[in-house]
Amino acid sequence: MRASSSSSSSSSSWMQSVQDSSNGFWDSLKKAAFVIGSGLFFLVAFRNSVTWHLQRFWGASGDFWQAQWTRLYTVFNRNEASLFFIGTMLVPTLFFWMFNGFLMIVDMTGKPAFITRYKIQQDKKSPVEVERVWRAVKKVLCNQLFLSVPLLVLTYTVMSWRGEPCAPELPTFHWVLLELAVCGLLEEVLFYYSHRLFHYPFFYKNIHKLHHEWTAPIGVVSLYAHPVEHVLSNMLPALIGPVLLGSHMATTSLWFSMALIVTSISHCGYHLPLLPSPEFHDFHHLKFNQCYGVLGVLDRLHGTDDKFRKTKEYERHTLLLSLTPLTKSIPDMPKKQVTSQPWTRPKNK
Ligand SMILES: [Zn+2]
Ligand SMILES: [Zn+2]
Repeated sequence: MRASSSSSSSSSSWMQSVQDSSNGFWDSLKKAAFVIGSGLFFLVAFRNSVTWHLQRFWGASGDFWQAQWTRLYTVFNRNEASLFFIGTMLVPTLFFWMFNGFLMIVDMTGKPAFITRYKIQQDKKSPVEVERVWRAVKKVLCNQLFLSVPLLVLTYTVMSWRGEPCAPELPTFHWVLLELAVCGLLEEVLFYYSHRLFHYPFFYKNIHKLHHEWTAPIGVVSLYAHPVEHVLSNMLPALIGPVLLGSHMATTSLWFSMALIVTSISHCGYHLPLLPSPEFHDFHHLKFNQCYGVLGVLDRLHGTDDKFRKTKEYERHTLLLSLTPLTKSIPDMPKKQVTSQPWTRPKNK
């Protein structure tokens, strides 16, 4: 009797938890639809005003880019597979390593001071151990060579089956802008939810923990991840936009290059003037259970940035327009005034 009552109570609590997670899922879905919907609305409004000026600029340079593309097309004797591979793999990868190569020298030497003075987590060890950096470099190279390359071959097959990714004519400026915005929104949604999934204890322990070895990340750590995470959280959210939209290779190349530079900046650990603020994702590496997204829109909707918004880091989360480091203009509270933190690091971290 007791057994049956306990089994019925456990089944009702199971039903309750299924219902809760299903409500949570629909709630998340409604919120995601709201973000995409309002994003598209904004884009239409945006297109009608600002892009008119940009189109005038494009009108002048558009012919130039079209001429370059036609020349490249002729040089490669219309070998679209080679063009696709160069544009979507080699070009973005080159940007990634040029940018991160420079940052790694700064990280491993602690010089020059005009960069290191912008360090976000100033209490962390600097310079970073060379061996630790090389371990990250090797992992990133493996991910790029053994996962990104085959996935891009597959992407080329899918994209050329449904369209012409290397068409002789380049897309218009408006269209490129619209596609970049849609790709950005899709990445935000897919990255946010896959990232949150990787923070469930089982997935965290077996997959995502590797990426979080770096509580004070450096640029190259952006692709330092378990193979499953590299495919599901780094590659797929960025790939889905160009595949769904049937983007031109030139747009895809631009999008991948931008996405790689943005993720490198958000991991680099320095809040440099005139570059997007890396405070949001740096805080995620520091505290683990805050700030899961890229743009932060879904974190605001789900309240996963509530603690972040009460911190000095949030006050510094802005485009730096002067040469004074934000750690100087918005200093931390003196140690004795810091009360107990409202968050604690989960045991399995
Ligand atoms: Zn994480
Ligand atoms: Zn990260």
